[in-house]
Amino acid sequence: MDDLYRELIIERYKNPLYRGELDPHDISFEDENPVCGDHIRIDLRVDDNDIVTEAAFSGQGCSISQASADLLVESIIGKSLDEIRGLTKDDVLDLLGIELGPVRLKCALLSLKVLKGGVYGLSSADDVSLEA
Ligand code: ZN
Repeated sequence: MDDLYRELIIERYKNPLYRGELDPHDISFEDENPVCGDHIRIDLRVDDNDIVTEAAFSGQGCSISQASADLLVESIIGKSLDEIRGLTKDDVLDLLGIELGPVRLKCALLSLKVLKGGVYGLSSADDVSLEA
């Protein structure tokens, strides 16, 4: 099972489905993980009912950070901003499906940090809580 998820991560790193920038967008946020050099930006388009209609990520970094962003962006299309505010790190880890040590965890959770920073309209990613 673990191998299957590893393959998914490598596949999404090499051939992401949601890489790009949305211009114009309703929400955009970016941050980096200096430990690894990962950088992620996420753009969202949201309808009148606060439902995400389109989402994309851009940036660069290790396979975990980029695959995590691609999978997370995929999972939030059609969700409401309230549902996104309720996402936790466990939701991201479920998407990735592998056990991660503390260093890789920062890589994996950068996309959630960026997403929540954007949805909460924060000025700094330092203020982001990864709990619901
Ligand atoms: Zn990384």
